[in-house]
Amino acid sequence: MSLFDWFANRRKSSAISPERQEREIADGLWVKCKQCDALTYAKDLQTNLNVCLECEHHMAVSSTERIHQLIDPNSWTPINAEIHPLDPLKFRDRKSYSDRIRDYQEKTGQLDAVQTGIGLLEGEPMALGVMDFQFMGGSMGSVVGEKLTRLIEHGTQEHYPVVIICASGGARMQEGMLSLMQMAKISGALERHRDAGLLYIPVLTHPTTGGVTASFAMLGDVILAEPKATIGFAGRRVIEQTLREKLPDDFQTSEYLLAHGFIDAIVPRTQLKKTLKQLIQLHRPPLNAFPPLNQPQSRSRQLTHSDPYLTHALGKRDGDQPQG
Ligand SMILES: [Zn+2]
Repeated sequence: MSLFDWFANRRKSSAISPERQEREIADGLWVKCKQCDALTYAKDLQTNLNVCLECEHHMAVSSTERIHQLIDPNSWTPINAEIHPLDPLKFRDRKSYSDRIRDYQEKTGQLDAVQTGIGLLEGEPMALGVMDFQFMGGSMGSVVGEKLTRLIEHGTQEHYPVVIICASGGARMQEGMLSLMQMAKISGALERHRDAGLLYIPVLTHPTTGGVTASFAMLGDVILAEPKATIGFAGRRVIEQTLREKLPDDFQTSEYLLAHGFIDAIVPRTQLKKTLKQLIQLHRPPLNAFPPLNQPQSRSRQLTHSDPYLTHALGKRDGDQPQG
C-alpha cells in the first residue's frame, strides 16, 4: 500500500458518521458553515473570530464576543449599562412589545440591542459601541439611541475616538416616532464630536440597514465594512418594485458600496483590530491639542487622566490575571 493510499484509507476510517456529526453539531462541538458546509471545531472557529477557515465566510458574532475580540483583556468598562427599554406606545402585534423585550432579554442576557463602554484596544483608549443583531434584529429604539448618544458625548468630553460596530435591521417600529428621532439625536452628537476634531469610525457588519445606514453608519470619518456584508437602506425588493428595474446581484454588498465610493475599505475581521489601531494612532491628536488634563507630560501620563471609566479600565488591566 502506498503512503497516499494509507492516508486516504485512514481519512475514510476516521470520518465521523452523519449521526455523530449531527449530535456533535447539536452539542456545539462543531459548527457547520452556511456558505460552504465545512465543519469546523467550535474552538478553532472561535480562535479565528468566527470566520470560516475554509471559505472566509464571516459568521455572526454577539456583542459580547465582539468586545472580547477587540478590547484588551480586563480593560472594558461598560457605561450606561442599566438603561432599559420601555413600551411607551403599548405596542402590540402578535405579541406585546413588553413581552417581546422580555423574551429577547432572557435569550441574549442583554437589556437592549447595543453595548457601550470605554476600553483599550492594544493600549489605545476608545469609546466603543457594539450593536447586537441577536437582540430584536439590532433594531434601534430609544435605548440604542440614548446609549450611543451618551457614548459619543462621553468620547467628545474625554477626547476619545469613537468606534461603532453596526449590525441592524433599522429603526424599531414598536417605538414608532421615538425610534426615528434617535437618528437625529446620534447624528447631532457625532457632529459635536467632529467639531472637536475627533475621529469616528463606524464598522458595518452583516447586515446594516434602515435607519442605522441612514444615520451614524454613514457619518464616519473613515467607514469600514466586513467582507460581503449586506448594507443598504430600503430592501432590495422595495427598490426593484419602485424603480421597476432589476438590480445587479451584488447590489447592497460591501464590495458594491466600495466600488461606488460609499465606504472606504473592506476589512476582514481577522485584520480589524490591527486596522483600527493603525487608524486611531494615525489620527491621534498631538498631546497639546486639548486643554490640559492633569497637565499630561507624556502619553502614559495622559492615560491616567480624569475619566473614571478609563481609570477603572487601567486599574483592572494593571491588576489583571493573564488570560487563557
Ligand atoms: Zn465556509
